[in-house]
Amino acid sequence: MNKPIEIAWIRGGDARCDIQPDKPPGSPWRLVLLGAPGVGKGTQAEILCARLGACHLSTGDILRSAECPTCVTRSQALQSAILNMRKGGLVPDETMLELVGERGRCLRCCGGFVLDGFPRTVAQAEGLDELLIREGVVLDAVITYELSVNEIVRRLSGRLVCPDCKAVFHRTKKRPIREGICDACGGRLVRRADDEPDAIRTRMTLYEEKIGPLLEWYARKGLLIRVPAYGAPEEIYARMWTCRQSLRVTAASP
Ligand code: AMP
Repeated sequence: MNKPIEIAWIRGGDARCDIQPDKPPGSPWRLVLLGAPGVGKGTQAEILCARLGACHLSTGDILRSAECPTCVTRSQALQSAILNMRKGGLVPDETMLELVGERGRCLRCCGGFVLDGFPRTVAQAEGLDELLIREGVVLDAVITYELSVNEIVRRLSGRLVCPDCKAVFHRTKKRPIREGICDACGGRLVRRADDEPDAIRTRMTLYEEKIGPLLEWYARKGLLIRVPAYGAPEEIYARMWTCRQSLRVTAASP
């Protein structure tokens, strides 16, 4: 089942996502999360959103949800992005910016947001800056999760996802109760097409090429927090709060 934000995004226009942020307005957090595929960025995004009451805007999840055959009304940007994703490469910057721009309502939401998977290039980051100025909001921090390539390959090769509810499992680290079956909804677990070895190699190469300049760009702005991503999700989350002391302008705790 798609999340409210995914339904609204696929519906397009200025559709409401029909969720009220858990957190009262006042101190919303607006974050960008970066990290190679397999570093556990999605899990950290979920923890952050649950704790901060923010909205999880994952471009990869949106594109995968919008692929379902029942999603017939897709914006031009969404349609074109899906076609690019299927080829295993990155979606062009202009298309991604158009897509994220469609969620202006989420960017200015009083609960804040956690952008996951976007921006991935300096051009996208520049476009995001303009979008945020247009929406009248400010980015608080950019968190990058870091892990060795060997560990990433080990993690990714065991990952399993539920195509119905998007729950994520792992062959050794987070096994479902019944082999091959989603604990949450009973769906049949699969390996994501982009977790196949060839697709992983393409994604890692693309990621490393693009990410260096993007990290430098955010570091120069004094927004970058580097977090070593080894250990359990809760340890990584706690480490992030320690690492945030490195911010030039330290964002306040929620
Ligand atoms: P992810 O789950 O974030 O790895 O995204 C899955 C796929 O969606 C990527 O391999 C790209 O094809 C596409 N995608 C998601 N976000 C972006 C982005 N910011 N820029 C370009 N392509 C993207």
